[in-house]
Amino acid sequence: MPHDSSSIQLSIPQIIQKKRDEIPLTLDEIRRLVMGVVQGDVPDYQASAFLMATYFTGMTFDETANLTRVMVDSGERYDLSKFKGAKVDKHSTGGIGDKVSIILGPLAAACGLKVPMMAGRGLGHTGGTIDKLEAIPGYRVVLEKDEFTRIVNEVGCAIISQSAKIAPADRKFYALRDVTATIECIPLITSSILSKKIAEGAQGLVMDIKVGNGAFMKGKTEAMTLAKTMRAVAKKAGVELRATLSNMDQPLGYAAGNALEIYECIEVMKNDDLNPYQLSSLDLKELTIHLCAQMLEVGKVVKNIAEGRKLAIAKLQDGSAWKKFKDMVKAQGGDVESLEQPWKYMKADKVIEIKCRKKGYVTEMNTEGLGRLLIQMGGGRNKVGEPIDHSVGIFFHKKLGSMTKPDDTLVTVFLNSNTDFSLIEEQIREMIKISASKKPAPKLLIEANVK
Ligand code: URA
Repeated sequence: MPHDSSSIQLSIPQIIQKKRDEIPLTLDEIRRLVMGVVQGDVPDYQASAFLMATYFTGMTFDETANLTRVMVDSGERYDLSKFKGAKVDKHSTGGIGDKVSIILGPLAAACGLKVPMMAGRGLGHTGGTIDKLEAIPGYRVVLEKDEFTRIVNEVGCAIISQSAKIAPADRKFYALRDVTATIECIPLITSSILSKKIAEGAQGLVMDIKVGNGAFMKGKTEAMTLAKTMRAVAKKAGVELRATLSNMDQPLGYAAGNALEIYECIEVMKNDDLNPYQLSSLDLKELTIHLCAQMLEVGKVVKNIAEGRKLAIAKLQDGSAWKKFKDMVKAQGGDVESLEQPWKYMKADKVIEIKCRKKGYVTEMNTEGLGRLLIQMGGGRNKVGEPIDHSVGIFFHKKLGSMTKPDDTLVTVFLNSNTDFSLIEEQIREMIKISASKKPAPKLLIEANVK
């Protein structure tokens, strides 16, 4: 089979074979395959075979940059240049309880940035910002280009799901990767995230790359490679990218589950101790402030991270982020009053506490397992397009390093009536290890600014 002759146009099976055999694809070959997928000429089984071949053999830097470029070109691009202010976005590679974007978009806007945020739904075992925002009654995640750009300009931020016209190749690949075990792959993650961000018109991007047992990147080395690949591909497209590596060996904040995470975000933005359990969002606040400072530095609103942190803390504390959030929810059709009435969006049938059985310390949390458990409870999908139950989830009363004694609450679970609590309890007890000797909690910021 002629693999690398540029004069012969390879068929789609030959392109897949070339990828399988680790021979770099040309821009034209990538374009034909990707456009074939978007136009429906390349069926899902060939697209999936291409994704699996890429998963196993990887891509060169040029292939990754070309794949990103072709995915951007597969749809329309937004031009935000006519609006005043730096346009900076943030994206995370995904985790459990990772609700940062919901606070960060309004917070960065309150600090003076324009934040055109196109976010995703749950992917694999991880949650998605869009699924979380849909827990707010009336909130519209699909906006046409003109409405989206108008809200970004007038309010300062909008958080929407990827429109059908933006990077349609990513929509197709994202859905296939989710169900073909091809998520954890550096060229596919890079092109997926950057194609959306370049197309939406962001000039700068802050990446939160999760590392740990609940992340797609389990180790620091591969996370660093992802950060550097993304930065170089973004630079080629004229987008300035900063990356932070943050820990995902435990859920972020105290809530996991769509509506529950909205509740935690509101509590953080209101600077209120709304929750009756006095649960802590310290790690969530710390990461949000750090990423906001990075966004402000990229957007040249501040000179350095220290100045950015100061501004972010001030705007969180004086209620500006909370006001921006409400403005954004209103502009996107959400019921603002419900934000003050959690019972309107937290509607689980059963709320049950699981108690600790022994004295000791929490030393391990199976974070990916907890993410999969949330899916089992109805809070995520096993198949593309499946409906989800926004009200189910878990409050974590204990996190890594916490001391436990018999009868302390370990977690509170929010379930719907058709879920068998005893099965959930058994799995949670298995996934949260309590040992006699203390292990220090992991550092939240593994790499605060990847060089
Ligand atoms: N987020 C995305 O948009 N794509 C990925 O591949 C991973 C996280």
